[in-house]
Amino acid sequence: MMKRRALLIILFLLPAMAGFSQISIRIFARTRPVSLFFTADRGSFLLRDGVAGEVRLNPGDIMAVSMHHERLIYRTLSGTSGAADSLTFTPAAAGALFSLSAPGSEEPQKILEGTLKIKPFPGSLQILNITTVENCLPGVVRAEAGKFGPSDYFKAQAVVARTYIYRNIDRHELDGYNLCDDIHCQVYPGVVNDSVIVNACRSTAGKVITDRDSLLIEAAFHGNCGGETASSADVWLAGYPYLVSVKDPWCSYSESSVWKRNISREEWNNFLRSKGITPGDEGGLYAGQVTGRGRIIRRTAQGRTVTSEEIRIRFGLRSAFFTLTPAGDSIAVSGRGYGHGVGLCQDGAKHMAEKKMTYDRITGFYYPGTLLVDIKNARKPARP
Ligand SMILES: [Zn+2]
Ligand SMILES: [Zn+2]
Repeated sequence: MMKRRALLIILFLLPAMAGFSQISIRIFARTRPVSLFFTADRGSFLLRDGVAGEVRLNPGDIMAVSMHHERLIYRTLSGTSGAADSLTFTPAAAGALFSLSAPGSEEPQKILEGTLKIKPFPGSLQILNITTVENCLPGVVRAEAGKFGPSDYFKAQAVVARTYIYRNIDRHELDGYNLCDDIHCQVYPGVVNDSVIVNACRSTAGKVITDRDSLLIEAAFHGNCGGETASSADVWLAGYPYLVSVKDPWCSYSESSVWKRNISREEWNNFLRSKGITPGDEGGLYAGQVTGRGRIIRRTAQGRTVTSEEIRIRFGLRSAFFTLTPAGDSIAVSGRGYGHGVGLCQDGAKHMAEKKMTYDRITGFYYPGTLLVDIKNARKPARP
């Protein structure tokens, strides 16, 4: 009885996910520009500067925003200008779109919807886009999954990306927003209109992947597993019951499935020395054609060790799933797959979808023992 009560209390304390459909994303988080152009593309926007009231920006209107002594200066081509501590651009009606570009920055222009808030931040602008999970999802899916593929492939990627977003929704809580648009969180290129991707997101709206305890899973994915996915415990420190090695017959069609590289003996010997291994003593590193990847340790007869991941990073290999064979003046590397190998294999998922398998079968295959549920019935794991 006590046990059940304790469990109920824990369930009650874990954050409910339902209220989180609105999110704020920091835009241009990697390059952090100090000035910006805002263009009203479709529909009008109302700018509030917290001082003078409202400025209306109609389609085609461009506003320049820059920082001056920790304040914001704004100016339109028609001469409207002002200074403020913060700026908020609100769409006058649903469906409005605006674009942002950062002059002198390598960031490509982004088309966005929703509300935009700009504040001066030490050394740069803090640019926040307030939108919804469902509205930003197609952009995230396209950045992760590419442009081309069957519908159920994108549906699988949509539930994976949605699961990731909800699981990480408080990642920047201390910074005052939810996620950034950089690889640190999830690359967000802005609004996209690829119809297969948009429809895949809409038709799976609200669906996420959970474990048997209704907890959002760690929805890892990668390019190609090389015929066998990796267990997260072998690649990272953390093991999860749904991130276990799965034999994958679906990705071998892809060019990424098998690869070869030669490392010159000189480069290899330099690497060995950097690990405290005397060239000539490394025999055990090749023994048994070790195929384990990630943190799996390769050991010399003298007890020195290197991991597959260390070799991958040093030589820029496509994955840490390979065998090493000394071959005269070089080391022949015979590898499989692309990426870390944990979770959903994108090449395999695409092929399963081409063979008319539905997205729920795809996610069930790569994340064994998981369920697809509505976000209302999912919970976020407590932070470690
Ligand atoms: Zn981030
Ligand atoms: Zn695969």
